[in-house]
Amino acid sequence: MSFSSLVQDLSLRDGGNNNPNAAAASRRPPPTVSSIDDRASHISRARSYASTAATSSMLIYPLFITDNDDDMNLVPSLPGQHQLGIGRLVSFLEPLVHKGLRSVILFGVPMKPGTKDALASAADDPEGPVIRAIRLIRRRFPQLYICADVCLCEYTSHGHCGILRDDGSLNNELSVDRISDVAVAYAKAGVHCVAPSDMNDGRIRSIKLKLIEEGIAHKTTLMSYSAKFSGCLYGPFRDAAGSAPSFGDRKCYQLPPGGRGLARRAIIRDMSEGADIIMVKPAGQYLDIISDAKDLGKDLPVAAYQVSGEYAMIHAGAKAGVFGLKEMAFESAEAILRAGATIIVTYFTPEFLDWLDN
Ligand SMILES: [Zn+2]
Repeated sequence: MSFSSLVQDLSLRDGGNNNPNAAAASRRPPPTVSSIDDRASHISRARSYASTAATSSMLIYPLFITDNDDDMNLVPSLPGQHQLGIGRLVSFLEPLVHKGLRSVILFGVPMKPGTKDALASAADDPEGPVIRAIRLIRRRFPQLYICADVCLCEYTSHGHCGILRDDGSLNNELSVDRISDVAVAYAKAGVHCVAPSDMNDGRIRSIKLKLIEEGIAHKTTLMSYSAKFSGCLYGPFRDAAGSAPSFGDRKCYQLPPGGRGLARRAIIRDMSEGADIIMVKPAGQYLDIISDAKDLGKDLPVAAYQVSGEYAMIHAGAKAGVFGLKEMAFESAEAILRAGATIIVTYFTPEFLDWLDN
């Protein structure tokens, strides 16, 4: 299934207001992406086997939104990428939307001193960067499909992806409860897709149930970072998001690089808990896992996140004259699509909009 048909599917579901069956539909359990017409999904799958050509509708562009409205800070380890204040967002997005940008994923970057605490209170602050950005983008660029990363690590004083016990280990119950509250707050602010990246057990189920309780599950896509591997490809992201853990690492709740079976189990778990899209992260080093995700989630879109380290490596290789930037960016995207992804989250999105146009 292509990203554009997913968007179309969601807009059909959202457009139920004039439909006499809408009230009945709203009483039914919320449809998931897997409930869409099977034939269409077979056709799109057949197409994706036949072609690995990237199109702009497959791309989601990650944006780092700070709480200083005028910020426009280049991230040195992530070539060409910025931390953006809300005041810069419209002028930044305008030319990209003009070139065909279809979707963004938002990461909040609280910079103001004293914002972070043990409970990540700022994550769902209505005046915080993510909720303000969701509202602004909905208003100014109604055609954009907006995803929001949902995690606590940007907002916790310790930089871990949940609430900690006194001994420094993650308290699963409290973490999941807090993360699902944050996801619901973003959905209520108008985001189209919530994307929990924390990897705490049970968070997909908890988010889905709260979205159902709030009556917004039918218009909120739940994209799960299902197979998120720990490793050394996240350095530039942590510079951009300011989310490096202050002690320890995330290896106890992210997958070890060799953990193919664990990844398959996590994908199956998240699908059974109600995920609408399965994500694999990083992408290029984990093509077998993307292929597994496609195999396990036959009617679910598979997203792959080409992470900061992959992007920075391609830039570094091109700068060193090892290969051309454009050629390697396309080769990497084509490999990801060949493995089975239909959505790519990538920092190359602005370049692809130019390159695909030519
Ligand atoms: Zn996190």
